[in-house]
Amino acid sequence: MPESGVRKMVLPAKYVQGEGVLGQLGVHVKQFGERPFVVSGKTSFSKVKARVQASLLAAGVPLVGFDDSVVECTHAKINAISTRAEELDVDVVIGCGGGKAVDTGKAVAEKLHVPSISVPSQCATNADGMADAVIFTEDHKFLEDLYLSRPPVLVLVDTEVVARAPPQFLVQGMGDALACAFEKPAYAATQRAKRANELATSAALEVNLRCFQTLMTHGLQANKDVESGKITESVEAVVEAIKLQSGFGFGGGGCAAAHAVHNGLTIVPGIARKHGEIVAFGTLVQMVLEKRPMGEIERVMRWCKSVGLPIRLQDLGRLDRSRLPEAAEKACDPNDSMASMPFAVSPRMVLDAIDEVERLASALS
Ligand SMILES: [Zn+2]
Repeated sequence: MPESGVRKMVLPAKYVQGEGVLGQLGVHVKQFGERPFVVSGKTSFSKVKARVQASLLAAGVPLVGFDDSVVECTHAKINAISTRAEELDVDVVIGCGGGKAVDTGKAVAEKLHVPSISVPSQCATNADGMADAVIFTEDHKFLEDLYLSRPPVLVLVDTEVVARAPPQFLVQGMGDALACAFEKPAYAATQRAKRANELATSAALEVNLRCFQTLMTHGLQANKDVESGKITESVEAVVEAIKLQSGFGFGGGGCAAAHAVHNGLTIVPGIARKHGEIVAFGTLVQMVLEKRPMGEIERVMRWCKSVGLPIRLQDLGRLDRSRLPEAAEKACDPNDSMASMPFAVSPRMVLDAIDEVERLASALS
């Protein structure tokens, strides 16, 4: 490997976002295939099915089939859908819905060696443009992160669709995107120090900064607008931050302490918040671990509070706190993303950082 490392960036070939763009789906699909197949969840697909079918038909590439039975992204589901799609001679797979549906769609496309397209139905995740699929067991336990040979060729985000989903999805997506602003620089620094094979490009790091600024500038307004059913410039800006900017360009991963803390906390009985919300709390923990300036931590904490993201353990649910040492232990699992921090983190440090977040949060108001 060259002395100065290898820079790498993985992106979807096309990103299209706007009110009503679902109507253009067929025109875009036509550029990649002629026999499209949709992979979706029942509720998500029922909301867009008529428009998807009409758009594909109008472009002369009618839907050859669909499977709207995805509730979890499992190997069994991927295999079953792949078999059926193969019989139908499918040449492009459209994953339509939340993270589990688009991940299943991407994995099916990979098996068929055909392009995949993501059409998200909500904003809780940035899985749409990523070249991976998070695989779970039938009983909803995390199994593995399956890396795919290529990202989707198109991510098509109809703001009208995603903004009409329950507002909490946008909040969850903002929590996950917030983490990226801190995890990706940490991951990039670690990769650089290790002189690893996949270094972040400066373009990816720039977009990452932009993502953070967008959240801070437009997050609260976007949240209010979505709650009152309005699609505004702030909503569009935040949707782009979540769907494109937060995942921009990091092909080989990019998570660090925030997601590791999330993974640890998910084993604590009583946790009631969703992925992006727990990750936002994990971000505050990471900021303390990094010994960031108090003013910076407070700014992010205030922002989290303003949009309804958790800043204290009690915001996460009625947690069994006796299990926190176990959670901290799990957060520091050497196979988890804590290993992407540029310095060693012990379970004790995680517990202390959680205490510090608690102290800062109670001193806030
Ligand atoms: Zn996440």
